[in-house]
Parts: sequence; structure tokens; C-alpha cells
Amino acid sequence: MSLPLDRLREIFTHVGEHAAPEGFDPLRGPCWVWMGRADRYGYGKVSVFGKYQKAHRVFYEAMRGVDLRPSQVLDHECRQRLCCNPNHLAIVTSRANTLRGIAARRAFGVLPLPFGGTRTGT
Ligand SMILES: [Zn+2]
Repeated sequence: MSLPLDRLREIFTHVGEHAAPEGFDPLRGPCWVWMGRADRYGYGKVSVFGKYQKAHRVFYEAMRGVDLRPSQVLDHECRQRLCCNPNHLAIVTSRANTLRGIAARRAFGVLPLPFGGTRTGT
């Protein structure tokens, strides 16, 4: 996807710098928090070429000069879903991302249940 430069500049006005979580490598810079609209999952969304796309994917593609395949998921290594800083994003397969999510939920004592519910405990 090739985004016109003026549109990219305009999109940039919708992010605000925010300190990355404690312990996150400071050389990777602050989080670029999306301040525009968000989807129901908490990811920023932006209209590009007439359709809504995830803001962090738009930033990653524009700044890395790559076209992500739908099967390529961007993992927020800073764990901030609204973050659009490409230095905080890593390409993973959707299966690997799901496994990471399950591991994180286990670590915090919340297990995924079918139909979108959650339960706390072991
Ligand atoms: Zn971040």
C-alpha cells in the first residue's frame, strides 16, 4: 500500500507520544498513542482509501515500506493496543499471537472461555 505523503502527515497528527511501559527498552522510543477512533477491540482505526484499517498496521506499512499479508499479525510488544510506533511492533503469525495472548492471560490468572467470556482463577 502506498500512502500519499500528505495523507500520512495528516494521520500523524492523530498520535501523541506517551512514555513506554516501565522496563521497556528506552532505545525503542515512546509509545505513539492513537487518539482517533478505536474499534471494539481497542485498536486504533483510520480511514485509508475509503475503508477503515487498523492504525498501527497503516503506520507500520507506511514507515517500513512493506505490504503486510492478512495472515501477518502485528504484536504490540509494549502491550498498548493503541500504540502505532513501528519500533514497538513485531510481525508474528496469527497462531503465534494467539499463543502469546493465552500465555499472557494465564500469567495474569484469566483464562479465555468460548463465546468471548473470561473467568479468573486457575
Ligand atoms: Zn508502544
